Amino acid sequence: MQRHDAIIIGTGQAGPSLAGRLAGAGRKVAIVERKFFGGTCVNTGCIPTKALIASAHAAHLARRAADYGVLVEGPINIDMKAVKARKDAISMRSRTGVESWLKGMQNCTVYEGHARFESPTNIRVGDELLSSDHIFINVGGRAVVPPMPGIEEIPYLTNSSMMDVDFLPPHLVIVGGGYVGLEFGQMFRRFGSEVTILEMGPHAIRSEDEETSKAIEEILREEGINLRSDSECIGFRRHADGVAVTVDCKEGSPEVIASHVLLAVGRRPNTDDLGIEKAGLVTDRRGYIAVDEQLRTNVPGIWALGDCNGRGAFTHTAYNDYEIVAANLLDGDSRRVSDRITAYNLYTDPPLGRAGLTEVEARNSTRHLLVGQRPMTRVGRAVEKGETKGFMKILVDGDSKQILGATILGTGGDEVIHCVLDMMYAKAPYTVMQRAMHIHPTVAELLPTILGELKPSSAMATSAPQAA
Ligand SMILES: Cc1cc2nc3c(=O)[nH]c(=O)nc-3n(C[C@H](O)[C@H](O)[C@H](O)COP(=O)(O)OP(=O)(O)OC[C@H]3O[C@@H](n4cnc5c(N)ncnc54)[C@H](O)[C@@H]3O)c2cc1C
Repeated sequence: MQRHDAIIIGTGQAGPSLAGRLAGAGRKVAIVERKFFGGTCVNTGCIPTKALIASAHAAHLARRAADYGVLVEGPINIDMKAVKARKDAISMRSRTGVESWLKGMQNCTVYEGHARFESPTNIRVGDELLSSDHIFINVGGRAVVPPMPGIEEIPYLTNSSMMDVDFLPPHLVIVGGGYVGLEFGQMFRRFGSEVTILEMGPHAIRSEDEETSKAIEEILREEGINLRSDSECIGFRRHADGVAVTVDCKEGSPEVIASHVLLAVGRRPNTDDLGIEKAGLVTDRRGYIAVDEQLRTNVPGIWALGDCNGRGAFTHTAYNDYEIVAANLLDGDSRRVSDRITAYNLYTDPPLGRAGLTEVEARNSTRHLLVGQRPMTRVGRAVEKGETKGFMKILVDGDSKQILGATILGTGGDEVIHCVLDMMYAKAPYTVMQRAMHIHPTVAELLPTILGELKPSSAMATSAPQAA
């Protein structure tokens, strides 16, 4: 039995940093990884997808070169092997960086293998039995494979196996119009595939306001993506040209022939093979480990961080979980999950930056909601760049004058959103930003202008933003 001061299961976005803090504080740490160091973000999530999106953006710009007076002679060809090799190199750099950091860390022992609880204090990794009174679970999640008719009979891709694709699928059918589905969809359309996205709900990215979803759908459709909403009764069977996907939509053909099928219908936590019952851990019905505001589980001495606790599904939420746990354990600083403000990006082009509440959520929570918005066609920087799709919207509580949320769908929206986010963290009245001098020409320079043009929400509801 190997006794440690702390055991960390998983080397995703919380585990390695926590190992660094604990080991740096002189604790004897064990960290366990069963597959790739760095977890989802580094190997099959954020980093490789954003690297692929950059290649797709280059292809898109090359096709649009004439719009800028640049003549590219001949067709734009994509070398998918080179695209994958670039992505692999970027991803691998991060993976080996995490691995060598952990393996070279003083006071830290790395165990490679599958970790399973044998008791609330004991973890088995192969032949090794590790023991500690402090165990941190950072096991992440994986793609859901839904029990759709025929799914067992066909070859399908997930975000993980997509990483091995070094060819151009002639027709990629993506099941799921969420963040993962839309990012892969636009990317492969730009590489040259025919792309069909089947969304079960009435709109893609359902968590957004309808006008945001519609604006994004319009952008994708303009690029030639066949986005079908209300897709019900999806089923699969083998076909001479790949896979026949049956789909019961209100409109469109009831059968689509795909060369390849990507499942992007959500994620599930990696808690089904962790022996959590032997530790006595409580989960919800989907397998997410129940935690309190400081990420403590129901079992004293066990914490759960990152995607597996269901309190976030992003790299920044997993990393913030690490910060919360480290602050509480090592700094005497009682940081909590509820301190953080919802924030995320969708990395379509243009990107969607989101912070805080949507307008629909804000209407339900605020009596006096003020809204400011502007289409990107009226943002000088966007016009200069020739990227005028989307809109910006900021929500303000008219009584407290605090910013409640923002939606920035437009060029630079993934970065600009942080101006709003930091104002929200500062709990400053919106007038602080309204009076700030922003730099010209930028997308962010219009934020003070928008805040000077706030109107009551009901008035704005009738004037949908133009996704020009
Ligand atoms: C296609 C895609 C794109 C994404 N893009 C973004 C993005 O742009 N921005 C963003 O913020 N988020 C993005 N995400 C989400 C992000 O990747 C995750 O939220 C993040 O990686 C979660 O980190 P984590 O630390 O909770 O777990 P993970 O990163 O999943 O790490 C968990 C680790 O635990 C290991 N493990 C699991 N079980 C065991 C066990 N029993 N024993 C030992 N080891 C185990 C796994 O092998 C893995 O290495 C994306 C996800 C996907 C799928």
